[in-house]
Amino acid sequence: MVSNEELAGLAHRLVQAAYPELAESEYRVRYGKTSAFASVSWENLHDGIDIVCNSSVKKWHEAALLGLLAHELSHPAQREGTTSEEGTDSDVLRRCLGLYLAVERLLAGKYEDHIVKRGKDRYMGYRTIRANLSQPELVQLDRLLAELRLIPRKAADRERGVHDMARRTLPDRTILLIDGLQVELEGISSSAQIEAIEVESTLVVTVDGIESLRLERTDSD
Ligand SMILES: [Zn+2]
Repeated sequence: MVSNEELAGLAHRLVQAAYPELAESEYRVRYGKTSAFASVSWENLHDGIDIVCNSSVKKWHEAALLGLLAHELSHPAQREGTTSEEGTDSDVLRRCLGLYLAVERLLAGKYEDHIVKRGKDRYMGYRTIRANLSQPELVQLDRLLAELRLIPRKAADRERGVHDMARRTLPDRTILLIDGLQVELEGISSSAQIEAIEVESTLVVTVDGIESLRLERTDSD
């Protein structure tokens, strides 16, 4: 079990090693209430970045948590901020953290790419990430998988939750990126609790427990 302090320590190590643009930012990382594996929110980089991880990932190996945290840090770290899930995954690969992302995707049940936004966006699956790793990284990855006794395979129709949510608060609106789907909400305070859950193929967004948006998810995979 990775404690709250250890989780924050992992994020700190990542920033020190691979996110120089966030070195001056304040970031808070903890377990908390989120319907996704993790969610990240920020207004502007200097005011701080909040990352909340679902307590279900406490039992994940550190390597997978590094992958999850790297994806979340890459949302605000990209110059354009919230862009796409594929762009965010590519940003993680560019920072040479793909090995961790590969382990995370196995634990998140994404062996193949997870197509979202009607094919316009995707989370890279284990197989795609692996294809982008260098030979030394592959050696390291295979050593890690052996140690974890993790056998890469397609998950058998696992329950599909939301992977993550990025939330950017602007003066006049809040931009949410939920599994690659961008939605904007107005009149939401930065302290409001926003949750996204998938009910059958419908994505339901709630603000402080009240349903505020319902979107049909027609992506196929
Ligand atoms: Zn994301």
